[in-house]
Amino acid sequence: MREIIVVGGGAAGMMAAVSAASVSPEVGVTLLERNEKPGKKLYITGKGRCNVTNDCTRDEFLREVARNPRFLYSALSAFSPQDMMAFLEKEKCPVTVQRGRRVFPASEKASDVTKALVRAMGERGVRLRLNARAASLLTEEGACRGVVLEGGETLRADAVILATGGLSAPLTGSTGDGYFFAEATGHQVEKPLPSLTAMEASVPWPGELQGLSLRNVTLTLTEKGKTRYSELGEMLFTHFGYSGPLVLEMSCHLPEDFSSCALSLNLKPGLSPEQLDARLQREFAAAPRKQLATVLCGLMPAALAGVFPGLCALDGEKKCADITREERQTLVRMLQALPLPMARRRPIAEAIVTRGGVSVKDVNPATMASRRLPGLYFAGELLDVDAHTGGYNLQIAFSTGYLAGRSAAEG
Ligand SMILES: Cc1cc2nc3c(=O)[nH]c(=O)nc-3n(C[C@H](O)[C@H](O)[C@H](O)COP(=O)(O)OP(=O)(O)OC[C@H]3O[C@@H](n4cnc5c(N)ncnc54)[C@H](O)[C@@H]3O)c2cc1C
Repeated sequence: MREIIVVGGGAAGMMAAVSAASVSPEVGVTLLERNEKPGKKLYITGKGRCNVTNDCTRDEFLREVARNPRFLYSALSAFSPQDMMAFLEKEKCPVTVQRGRRVFPASEKASDVTKALVRAMGERGVRLRLNARAASLLTEEGACRGVVLEGGETLRADAVILATGGLSAPLTGSTGDGYFFAEATGHQVEKPLPSLTAMEASVPWPGELQGLSLRNVTLTLTEKGKTRYSELGEMLFTHFGYSGPLVLEMSCHLPEDFSSCALSLNLKPGLSPEQLDARLQREFAAAPRKQLATVLCGLMPAALAGVFPGLCALDGEKKCADITREERQTLVRMLQALPLPMARRRPIAEAIVTRGGVSVKDVNPATMASRRLPGLYFAGELLDVDAHTGGYNLQIAFSTGYLAGRSAAEG
């Protein structure tokens, strides 16, 4: 009998356990979860609806991976989004494909995904040990041979799969234990940073903007004049700064030190500067006696129109007839590149995923096996890979979990 221990009962760990136990009846699998139940983070994914994967091709998928996409090539080939969808259907969790090919359980209940994984583990005889927190790895003769639990109990195994997650949403149990286990056994751990995170502003934005959501705007991140990210979508002003889908996605492309980066917003991305200038001239000519702030309401939400002249160092009460050509050009420039100065990322606990983690240089992408310690495997967010929103991060957990489980079981 070959014994496998999986540490962490999240998306990656549960899939690793299912996959390992599916290889042969001669493989015994124990899943250790520190919480009183598995899948606590899964439960809060997709606002409780769980965007479980994305029904796209492998190449489309890899384009959505911000960090180390090529590392995932084998894992996605071994277990694709379509394999995940088929797995859920087979485990009595039908799925539905929604806008952007985002896949959800048809019930729109994240708990149904966990139930499917727990059912699949049960069918394959996986031993699930709850309230069992791994404290360290057992190494003997240069190989990983088990786990020591908090409290001192030693569990021996032929292989161990670490799937302890990252550092985001720590109340779900992901507090970075795997980083310590990896470092203690000679692996490089890239500095964990928040990814898919909101940003704090370095200037106080007028209170009127709090809660304002802007659609069909383009957010652009540049570094020393070079574009790192530029996408059309939706963003949100908050009490601390900037959030919303575009900001979260942009944060995946932000270097650790972003002091030489600039973030800007194009409020009228559909118009060229010349077209926008012509539009302003028309608006001003049609209402020469109206105040600038009033006329701007035709171009943007009223809350923003009220403060926009001030952001351009212009007087919002100025009559349109009195606006000079130079002032109009300032308006055009600011409408298409409003600076959004950034102070810092929000704390990692609030981030959707963790960037950084176990270096992919220390892991064989064909098996998820450690290159440093035989008998040790890695899966999920613990690894230095992260992707945009859309179901990609969970699929990374499922694909790497599947491959780690199969490889560990085959030995
Ligand atoms: C609010 C929120 C919403 C999200 N929504 C989505 C979404 O809709 N779609 C998507 O693709 N991604 C989403 N994500 C990201 C996704 O949840 C993660 O990428 C994914 O859960 C990572 O899976 P994992 O198994 O690697 O880690 P985790 O899910 O974090 O699981 C790790 C498990 O290991 C356990 N553990 C940790 N240390 C130990 C130890 N020492 N011993 C035993 N057990 C231990 C933890 O308790 C935990 O259960 C969301 C994240 C957040 C925070």
